[in-house]
Amino acid sequence: MQKTNGYAAHTHDSPLVPFSFERRDLIPTDVRIEILFCGICHSDIHQVRNEWGNSVFPMVPGHEIVGRVTEVGSEVTAFKPGDTVGVGCMVDSCRVCPDCQDNLEQFCDNAVFTYNSLDKYTGGSNYGGYSGQIVVNRDFVLHVSDKLDPAAVAPLLCAGITTYSPLKQWKVGKGDKVGIVGLGGLGHMGIKFAHAFGAHVVLFTTTPGKTEDAKRLGADEVVISKDPDEMQRHLASFDFILNTVAAPHNLDNYTALLKRDGTLCLVGLPDQPHPSPSIGNLIFKRRSIAGSLIGGLKETQEMLDFCAEHAITSDIEIIPIQQVNEAYERMLKSDVKYRFVIDLASLERPVE
Ligand code: NAP
Ligand code: ZN
Ligand code: ZN
Repeated sequence: MQKTNGYAAHTHDSPLVPFSFERRDLIPTDVRIEILFCGICHSDIHQVRNEWGNSVFPMVPGHEIVGRVTEVGSEVTAFKPGDTVGVGCMVDSCRVCPDCQDNLEQFCDNAVFTYNSLDKYTGGSNYGGYSGQIVVNRDFVLHVSDKLDPAAVAPLLCAGITTYSPLKQWKVGKGDKVGIVGLGGLGHMGIKFAHAFGAHVVLFTTTPGKTEDAKRLGADEVVISKDPDEMQRHLASFDFILNTVAAPHNLDNYTALLKRDGTLCLVGLPDQPHPSPSIGNLIFKRRSIAGSLIGGLKETQEMLDFCAEHAITSDIEIIPIQQVNEAYERMLKSDVKYRFVIDLASLERPVE
């Protein structure tokens, strides 16, 4: 076992603090990774505060991991020490169920998420990327191009794939009018991908001050969602709307903007339910409300390769790990441009 330092929450209402724990010795199929950068996802806040009701403490969050391979097991051939790699929201799955067979491991009933999930090696809850190193099964390690800034790649491992996957699933492309709701970590990647796929992109935001940034990121239009007149101008005109908002709100305002057969896809997962949507809004134009969860490993690698080819990364604010609690407070005020990334060089390493 190797001693590792990280930051953990010990209860749902206490700040994250320094924490020491152990990573397992390698088995033949494992990869050991020194973590360089880890993004801060709003899901980390939901889980640290037990807003989804399934939190196990102590909790070391973090599932937007970029690092460098330091050691590989005897059966690992696809990675070698020195490689730049990524780890996202999952570290294992059953491999045999229909979802795993279809490369959709995120839907596997036995998927092991990167933290706050049952670790079969220790029998306890596993620990994520706000830490110095991690040991991951080779099939859940991703190749990261050295052409891209590793810090700005980290958020692609969750915010990137969570927006890329539904845009692909609903075949967003040239000629489509696409809405992105909320300009945070997910939303800013949604704009970049929808723009790269050739769609006409409209950002819906509650924060008028984000208009210029949204246009720089690739939005063709920006709508202030609190203004009913501005919303009204877009009635029944969208092919697809991707909603990333992390708080409950009235979905009817968005279903009304869909064309016949259009889809509102939800990826935000608030702690309280949205008000029940109007069925009339759906049936009179055969509209759909759908959901989407991150993406499988194959698609995540495809997304990373697409980003390397098109020079797409996140817009980030790098912080030392000692500022993680302040970063959470700022995210809750929608004050982040547009993803915080922890530089793990700031972490005190264990004394050998
Ligand atoms: P984030 O960076 O905090 O961004 C959320 C954005 O939503 C904010 O920047 C804000 O944008 C908008 N917003 C926040 N509160 C709002 C409110 N009360 N009313 C209207 N708009 C509000 O969060 P994130 O990391 O992108 O995550 C967003 C959500 O997705 C979270 O619930 C997270 O757990 C979930 N998530 C889901 C998946 C999945 O696989 N489905 C994966 C990752 C994350 P404006 O200022 O522009 O309005
Ligand atoms: Zn996430
Ligand atoms: Zn499975």
